[in-house]
Amino acid sequence: MSELSIPPGLLPSDGRFGCGPSKVRQDAVRALADRAVSYLGTSHRQAGVRDVVKRVRQGLGELFLLPEGYEVMLGNGGTTAFWDAATFCLIEHKSQHVAFGEFSSKFARCVESAPHLDSPIVITAEPGTCAEPVARTDIDTYALTHNETSTGVTMPVRRPVDSSGHAAEGIVLVDATSGAGGLHVEPSEFDVYYFAPQKCFGSDGGLWLALVSRAAIERVERTARWTPPFLDLKIALENSRLDQTYNTPALATLFLLAEQVEWFNANGGLDFAASRSDRSAEILYGWAERSEFASPFVTKPDERSHVVATIDFDKSVDALAVASVLRTNGVIDVEPYRKLGRNQLRVAMFPAIESADIEALTGCIDWLVERI
Ligand SMILES: *Cc1c(COP(=O)(O)O)cnc(C)c1O
Repeated sequence: MSELSIPPGLLPSDGRFGCGPSKVRQDAVRALADRAVSYLGTSHRQAGVRDVVKRVRQGLGELFLLPEGYEVMLGNGGTTAFWDAATFCLIEHKSQHVAFGEFSSKFARCVESAPHLDSPIVITAEPGTCAEPVARTDIDTYALTHNETSTGVTMPVRRPVDSSGHAAEGIVLVDATSGAGGLHVEPSEFDVYYFAPQKCFGSDGGLWLALVSRAAIERVERTARWTPPFLDLKIALENSRLDQTYNTPALATLFLLAEQVEWFNANGGLDFAASRSDRSAEILYGWAERSEFASPFVTKPDERSHVVATIDFDKSVDALAVASVLRTNGVIDVEPYRKLGRNQLRVAMFPAIESADIEALTGCIDWLVERI
């Protein structure tokens, strides 16, 4: 079976469909190669690298149409490090989390084990669904996740309200690691929108970025507890304002990120980027709905992510076997999220991925399923 060789005419132009690290555009890689001698291997405290950080910070401000008072911060360690930084520097006493998959639950667990914080309120939802946060007077920080990468569920980025419709007092943190740059968002609805560059931003991992409101900056400045310097957002803020990071960043990651942000901005900004993912989602979910053996895992259409699709297969088809034959044909990383334990494939539809390639992927799956 693994000898099945998909006809070249059916194959996508690029076989990378993984959710992170994800497809990096060849144009960006070429631009990096062209600049390599004057950029790679140079000091991150000098103009050459700081200019790239500046391009990233300004470009993100433009991409998200950040209102007055919002700033772009960055630091090393990826989103996972940012969770720890938020645990020290953003949550004052008590947070509320909507946990509807592996990633949203992980941040909640970081907070649960922090001795300096009250136990958080965790609102859970079954994998494949979402839940709503609820404004409460004892909560100072709400933790949402724009796109739950483990299940392919997207949630609206909106300030929580209480039962009489009043907006929450606390700050709203949004893990947008896999959603930022591929999903629409309204900055007035968040205080911190944080992410990493290896998903929609078609770069490499190891960095975190955060779009922060004035209220979030005030929170960082006010929170005065001992914090490991690496996780101290005050230090990160000072460095970000100088277009630097606290310690040495990966220069290639920054460069590829700047290229992607500028590619988005030059073509129409977030509307352009999100519309590419929208088109891919229409193709993939449309195919799954018409298919006799596949169906979207997420039942509510408006909770189906436009950047990460999860597609269930019926018992007659072994999804892992399909993923493995795809892999031998160079179509890779569509394996399901391991801990979810379902007979399914997970497919990234980030803006760098061509919708025509998503279409080709469905053709490859149909071709294989007839033959397996
Ligand atoms: C990938 C991902 C993370 C982890 O990001 P790292 O940069 O690897 O720490 C966190 N949250 C979400 C929603 C993700 O998709």
